[in-house]
Amino acid sequence: MDLFEYQGKQYFARFGIPVSAGGVADTVDEAVAEADKAGYPVVVKAQVQVGGRGKAGGVKLAENSDEVRHHAGNILGLDIKGHVVRRLWVEHASDISKEYYASFTLDRGAKKYLAMVSAKGGVEIEAVADEDPDAIARLYIDPSIGFVEADARGLVERAGLDEEAHDGAVAILLELYRCYVEGDADLVEINPLILTPAGQVHALDAKVTLDDNASFRHPEWDGFRDIDEFDERERLARSKGLQYVGLDGYVGIIANGAGLAMSTCDVVNQVGGKPANFLDIGGGANAEVMANALEVINSDPNVRAIFINIFGGITRGEEVAQGIVTALERVDIKAPMVIRLDGTNAEEGRDILKQVESDRVMSSPTMLEAARKAVELAGSGTTGGNAGTSGNRSGTSGNGPATSGDTGDVQ
Ligand code: GDP
Ligand code: MN
Repeated sequence: MDLFEYQGKQYFARFGIPVSAGGVADTVDEAVAEADKAGYPVVVKAQVQVGGRGKAGGVKLAENSDEVRHHAGNILGLDIKGHVVRRLWVEHASDISKEYYASFTLDRGAKKYLAMVSAKGGVEIEAVADEDPDAIARLYIDPSIGFVEADARGLVERAGLDEEAHDGAVAILLELYRCYVEGDADLVEINPLILTPAGQVHALDAKVTLDDNASFRHPEWDGFRDIDEFDERERLARSKGLQYVGLDGYVGIIANGAGLAMSTCDVVNQVGGKPANFLDIGGGANAEVMANALEVINSDPNVRAIFINIFGGITRGEEVAQGIVTALERVDIKAPMVIRLDGTNAEEGRDILKQVESDRVMSSPTMLEAARKAVELAGSGTTGGNAGTSGNRSGTSGNGPATSGDTGDVQ
């Protein structure tokens, strides 16, 4: 899970890493209130999970409340590399004499942690790595040995940080390491890590990626899940433990395994259709899981046909088929569906499906053929009015699911 800057700074603060005082704001008025609290001058910062906000006009200094009003108004709603700004972080502005870089991350190839420090901060580290690789001091850390003060000092010296920043930077590196390990992060990055004219070192930006595999021991992470970020369907899927990604098209996809789900999306595209989602039901595709998956897809008003693509390995065909039959009893599915079953016990599965087959529930032996059928079913008799809409979140919820018989959209 990637954190927003303001969340990353909260996380940093928990481990003693110095950050500037500030607060979040979702409106211009809130931004002014937070700026008044933090004390002028302030920086108004777009909260989006993408780098280079500064260059994109998402980070602005403000001397007074009028300037905060002006910048907050401009930044809210701004599109930064496809991310629309809905939230701001307003913090007391720092004086900067130097901008550095510091991070810990996991090098999977080396099976070690990797610490990186550079005196060239404030710009994207990839650019530094390209243009001046020697400007980045690196240290591989054996997790079983750890990272101690002498390591931190060595890094800071090799990176050529200014003398007066050494002690502060060493202290922060040790805290950042603790944040990385005890905080179960995959990445912690400070860019820029600044030296102020008063000789203080502190974090001006925060990039934190938490290791989702450790979420079971961090109930407090729930607070970071910005549920507003998800649309209705993603929220429902999450609550049912399904891997789901909403897309803009109209063919609902259910597959077992992320690889198969992706190739199913490709095949749907290849035959001229557009996937409405990407839903991976994983290995244990039993009746319950299948019913849940169909329920999620059914809640999407853009779905005009459903393509269920299962290749049985551990997953058994007859179990999947039984799941579909049960799901059809439980959920009033609005769109017609095409099922492609292959692999383990596919024959038995197809036999079971025969009992529910109709002109709205079809079985097809190959992926390509099934994709063609699904796209055909989705295409016929549609108004096309809702293809590619992004306003599906609230606009149609009042209509409720169509009653059975109301199939005008898809037949
Ligand atoms: P990014 O562009 O998304 O990485 O956003 P940052 O938070 O790193 O901010 C970008 C740049 O804005 C920094 O490298 C600084 O040069 C500048 N900046 C951010 N906060 C302050 C501040 O408190 N004071 C000053 N003077 N500049 C700041
Ligand atoms: Mn930055």
